[in-house]
Amino acid sequence: MTSNPSSSASTYDVVLIGGGIMSATLGALLRQLEPNLSIALFGRLDDVALESSNAWNNAGTGHSALCELNYTPLRPDGNVDISKAVAVNEAFQISRQFWSYLVETGQIASPRDFLNPIAHMSFVWGPENVDFLRRRHAALQDHPLFEGMSFSTDEAQLAQWMPLVMQDRAPGQPLAATWHPAGTDVNFGALTRRLIQLLQGKPGFELNLAHEVEDLKPAGNNEWDVSVRAMHGGAERKVRAKFVFIGAGGGALPLLQKSGIPEAHGIGGFPVSGQFLRCTNPDVVARHHAKVYGKASVGAPPMSVPHLDTRVIDGQRGLLFGPYAGFSTKFLKSGSWLDLPRSIRMDNIGAMMAVARDNMALTKYLIQQVLQSNEDRMKALRDFVPTARKEDWELITAGQRVQVIKKDATRGGVLQFGTEVVTGAGGSVAALLGASPGASTAAPIMLTVLQRCFASRMPQWDARLRESVPSFGTRLGQDAQMCAQVRERTRKVLQLQG
Ligand SMILES: Cc1cc2nc3c(=O)[nH]c(=O)nc-3n(C[C@H](O)[C@H](O)[C@H](O)COP(=O)(O)OP(=O)(O)OC[C@H]3O[C@@H](n4cnc5c(N)ncnc54)[C@H](O)[C@@H]3O)c2cc1C
Repeated sequence: MTSNPSSSASTYDVVLIGGGIMSATLGALLRQLEPNLSIALFGRLDDVALESSNAWNNAGTGHSALCELNYTPLRPDGNVDISKAVAVNEAFQISRQFWSYLVETGQIASPRDFLNPIAHMSFVWGPENVDFLRRRHAALQDHPLFEGMSFSTDEAQLAQWMPLVMQDRAPGQPLAATWHPAGTDVNFGALTRRLIQLLQGKPGFELNLAHEVEDLKPAGNNEWDVSVRAMHGGAERKVRAKFVFIGAGGGALPLLQKSGIPEAHGIGGFPVSGQFLRCTNPDVVARHHAKVYGKASVGAPPMSVPHLDTRVIDGQRGLLFGPYAGFSTKFLKSGSWLDLPRSIRMDNIGAMMAVARDNMALTKYLIQQVLQSNEDRMKALRDFVPTARKEDWELITAGQRVQVIKKDATRGGVLQFGTEVVTGAGGSVAALLGASPGASTAAPIMLTVLQRCFASRMPQWDARLRESVPSFGTRLGQDAQMCAQVRERTRKVLQLQG
């Protein structure tokens, strides 16, 4: 993808910082709603989708709570709380609608360019976990968003769903799994590239790759002066923007801090890096066709639950296991070791210290993860693939996540594992922090940005918005009829199952 710095304009309606799925989705939505906007995107690397949105830097799970056990905690009364799972699935249905619109309007030639149906499974062992999974299934199975989920403790059934996981498994342990055919594997890198190609094909869009945003300052009148440095020894440049979206992934926090908006006050970041084992043996890859999510270890952050994932990247089947968490002070995979220390300020140091004090189990877990050997990693893998041989698997480094730390009146500070949209200065700036459920929910998250920053234009955008997201404004979990319509339409258009 080539950059297009030819435009001489230095004032834009919209500046998008970062070339990942979030900026790409926001750009595509804005272009659909208001085609005449001038938009400039600045990305610090030589291409788009090279950080977390890159296919091999994330697990590509279309997060819809069909398999992720951390979205359904067990309540003290013994019931399973499904409210978070419903919210995550509702959000994913918005993404499904937006992607369907792109396919229906011919903007994406085939859903297979970025999306594949892969069954989503939860898999547990031990009596307590089996009991939990049974309760989870009972709580979800009749819900319109989760209809179609099967549960089994029968080893023959489990072997049919996941032969590789059941092969040569030691007998004597109670096992259980759920299986849902509506699961997906998403190549967020391919989707990002396609969305940005679509923007490039339209007038008024400027793509500036290898350009790092160094600063942004209020320019009066709710406008922003954005300072940009061309990488590889290039010049510095200042542009004016009426609206700035900081979609810089892990790099969003430092820029948000530089903006000086009061809403950024007290926010800190805690980076967690990820590694995967990637299977290099095509025969092993061919014997698994599901995303199988397990239970998190004690102290593990929710996004570190182990999972064995079929991937489909550029038409090729792949197999991942992980993630193994790690600690790095970098905020981006291609970031600097100084990122974390530089983000510590007088306004957030108290919250960060409180989080360090209150999260000893997490600290211990991360230390264990960092210190583990290849043999330890293989041991974790063999919980899922008992026949795994180390010569069939290679360790790869995935993307970097920066978890949000916020001030808290009682505890001083709390560590959050979700995503957080921060907006300020009369809606002229927005930033996205955190990374879970992440790329799967880029469309609903960017709709939130629009609602908060372009509130006055929403009434006139409403009809166009409903062309791409017909259920906009409706909670699908509370409207079984619309839920069924949305699921059916998007299943057909995106060629999904279930
Ligand atoms: C290990 C791992 C597994 C994951 N698995 C999943 C999954 O299975 N499903 C899912 O939905 N999500 C998953 N995620 C989360 C998902 O990858 C992210 O939420 C999503 O990719 C974030 O997109 P983004 O556009 O915000 O950031 P990124 O894709 O990281 O893009 C940020 C962009 O900003 C640029 N940038 C940074 N600083 C600057 C600057 N100063 N100036 C200019 N440009 C800048 C970067 O170069 C990059 O182009 C996972 C993440 C990780 C790390």
